[in-house]
Amino acid sequence: MSNYEMVIGIEVHARISTKSKMFCGCSNDFFGKAPNSTVCPICMGFPGVLPVLNKEALEKGIKAALALHCSIPEKSLFDRKNYFYPDLPKAYQISQWDNPVSIKGYLDVLVNGEKKRIGITRLHLEEDAGKLTHVAGGTLCDYNRSGTPLMEIVSEPDIRSADEAVAYAEELQKILRYVGSADCDMEKGGMRFDLNISLREKGTEKFGTKVEVKNLNSFRSLEKAIHFEFERQENLISKNEKIIQETRGFDDVKSITVSQRTKEEANDYRYFPEPDLPPIYTEKDYVENLKKQLPELPTDRKERFMKDYSMSEVDARILTDNSDLADFYEKVTKLSKDAKRSCSYITTNMLALMKVQNIGDIKLIKISVQNLADLIKKISSGEINNNIGKQIFEIMFNEGKNVDQIIKEKGLIDNSSDDNLEKWVKEVISENPGPVAQYKSGKISVIAFFIGKIMAKSQGKANPGKVKEVLERMMN
Ligand SMILES: [Zn+2]
Repeated sequence: MSNYEMVIGIEVHARISTKSKMFCGCSNDFFGKAPNSTVCPICMGFPGVLPVLNKEALEKGIKAALALHCSIPEKSLFDRKNYFYPDLPKAYQISQWDNPVSIKGYLDVLVNGEKKRIGITRLHLEEDAGKLTHVAGGTLCDYNRSGTPLMEIVSEPDIRSADEAVAYAEELQKILRYVGSADCDMEKGGMRFDLNISLREKGTEKFGTKVEVKNLNSFRSLEKAIHFEFERQENLISKNEKIIQETRGFDDVKSITVSQRTKEEANDYRYFPEPDLPPIYTEKDYVENLKKQLPELPTDRKERFMKDYSMSEVDARILTDNSDLADFYEKVTKLSKDAKRSCSYITTNMLALMKVQNIGDIKLIKISVQNLADLIKKISSGEINNNIGKQIFEIMFNEGKNVDQIIKEKGLIDNSSDDNLEKWVKEVISENPGPVAQYKSGKISVIAFFIGKIMAKSQGKANPGKVKEVLERMMN
């Protein structure tokens, strides 16, 4: 066990899912588009142009902040963050500094079964920079990303381990998706993390020298960067060497952090209020109205699922990780009136097939709420047995047809077995005199034994309900 503990704060950048960019009418849907095809004089930083705040971005930013229990000051300001680099054609980024759109929230996360509250310092709005590609002999500039809307969520230094950091980042992603403020698609750079990390002796209050690790673009690299930094810093301290306050990058291939610049070379951004944009005034009614629009949040929904549908924490978490999946489950259950079987079909059979077929989005599956509910109803009523049910489910998943269609086309329930039922019942009765005597002496439960025998004779195709009916008639 180490004598040291980590003190971690995380800054999360998430692209706000709007139609247009933060301060101009250009499309925010730039991924995969030809370089410099979604740009205009405003996001290209031409002189003399004026930015106009995107209302949708403000609204979605505030909704995210409210979901993170932040308060919304009545007045907030945009500021210019000055730095000179070719990804930023204006030579300044419009961001927010000491008057952000929201402050002082928190997020509760579950880490190894225990609840931990992580403070949120602020959520502010800003624009993204362009993208540079360094090639032999020069640098290519693509300004499609320039001016796209971001929210930056800054946590308090409340995080103590890589597990907590990842739990925080995952929960944040879930919430931003639930409220519809950001899709947080990390493969498209829709969510990235900057890390502040320092070490201190356990039991002490004073912070150590902090190191910043910038631009982590997956939960994995977030976790690996923390593990690496802990070892690196602990190693330095144990050798009595000084930790340098610096900014480091993360090398994904080698899983190490690398020094980029030290404090002496740190940028002085010379923040000052953006003169081209008026202050944002958020009236109480406006904020209250946005609050009312917030959906039930993932943790609340998970707890309600456990209570309302008597399901395990694991199942509830799987179903509520994604709001579309949770909606799908609730609709199926409402129609099928069998919460337990609906849960098991979705969490096991359906998610397994989605995984095998690499379908990441429930909106893309062929199976409809109604068809799945019909199937579950027929299984619950005994009209279809479990084995056939699973076969029908797979066909339904692949072909999108309804239960009756599938049964008819694939001959899954052999109606001719009805004609054989009496014959099988007779056989089973004569083959099992012992259980017959038990039944006649009042042990009705042995009926299950007979049903099983007959189902086997029919190779699972007989209708268990009918089998029971015929059995009872012939045994009495
Ligand atoms: Zn533009």
